[in-house]
Order: sequence, then C-alpha cells, then structure tokens
Amino acid sequence: MKANSVNELMRDTGAILCVECGKCASACPMTEIFQDFSYEVSPRGIVEKALFGFDLLTDVGIWFCLTCDVCTELCPAGVRFRDFVQGVRALAIEEGVTEHGVFCERCGEFVVPMHTVKYIQDMTRGQDSAGDYLRFCPSCRQYEFTAKLKEMRPGRRVLGA
Ligand code: SF4
Ligand code: SF4
Repeated sequence: MKANSVNELMRDTGAILCVECGKCASACPMTEIFQDFSYEVSPRGIVEKALFGFDLLTDVGIWFCLTCDVCTELCPAGVRFRDFVQGVRALAIEEGVTEHGVFCERCGEFVVPMHTVKYIQDMTRGQDSAGDYLRFCPSCRQYEFTAKLKEMRPGRRVLGA
C-alpha cells in the first residue's frame, strides 16, 4: 500500500528500527560504482537523516540508490531500505521534485534516476543504445521494441498501401 508521508514509510519499511550498525553502507555497491559516493547518500546516511527529521523529499541523496536490495538482506534490524527509498522518491515526485528522474516518454512513469543515467552515459561514452533503453518504462519499452520489430519484419505489408 502506498504511504502518505516519510514517517509512515519509516514505520512500514522498518527504517525506524535502524540501529546504525553500518552493515548496509559497507556492502552497498554504490561505494565502488560512484566516484561521488559519500556517507550522506549511503543507506545508513539516508536513514539517519530521516530519523533526525531532515527533509528527504528535497535531498538529492535519495536519487543515488541502485535498488539492488543487498542492504535489505544484510540488515540485522530488518530495515527494507530499497522499499523505503523507492517510497520516498514516489513522495518527492508527487511533490513536484522531478529534476532528478528520467520519465517514460510514452506513459510518463518514473523510470530511473538521472544520476544513474549520467553514470551509464559516462561509461558508454554517450552511445545511443544506452539512452534508447532508458527513455521508456519496462512495459512501454516492450511495446516500442515490439513495434520496431514488426516494422523490421521481412515482407511486411503496409496497410492501406
Ligand atoms: S544495516 Fe540496517 S540497522 Fe544497520 S545501519 Fe543499515 S539500515 Fe540501519
Ligand atoms: S538497495 Fe540501494 S542502498 Fe541498498 S545496497 Fe543496493 S544500492 Fe545500496
């Protein structure tokens, strides 16, 4: 069920039970992937800010997580950080914070954080294939690619021609 506030999300995902052990941050793949990774954007850092009542909806740190869920598996307190950060992102988008996300060109659904896209573009040196893949949400991507495949079908007859 969708949460209406960060406090509700903290209860629903167990973030309120965090014992600040740091296991999540030490296992998080962001530490090896992002050069601009810091404690402030780590799962522990984000949960700590939530516990201290900082405004997470305008915090750029919520857009770093790769949603791999490794931290959830390791957390001794049962905090479901991935669910927490995805819920916070949804609330932020509802509040009009859209500059940190990429949204599907077809249906408008949130696809992926801009931070992740910039990283992929840097790694692929701006090759178009990466950009194409991320312009649509998974179901619209399937629709677009199926339409493209149909266009490529040998002997395709164009209706009305
Ligand atoms: S692993 Fe769990 S309890 Fe430990 S800091 Fe991370 S969220 Fe908190
Ligand atoms: S879900 Fe996010 S915060 Fe947790 S380990 Fe994966 S990238 Fe790190």
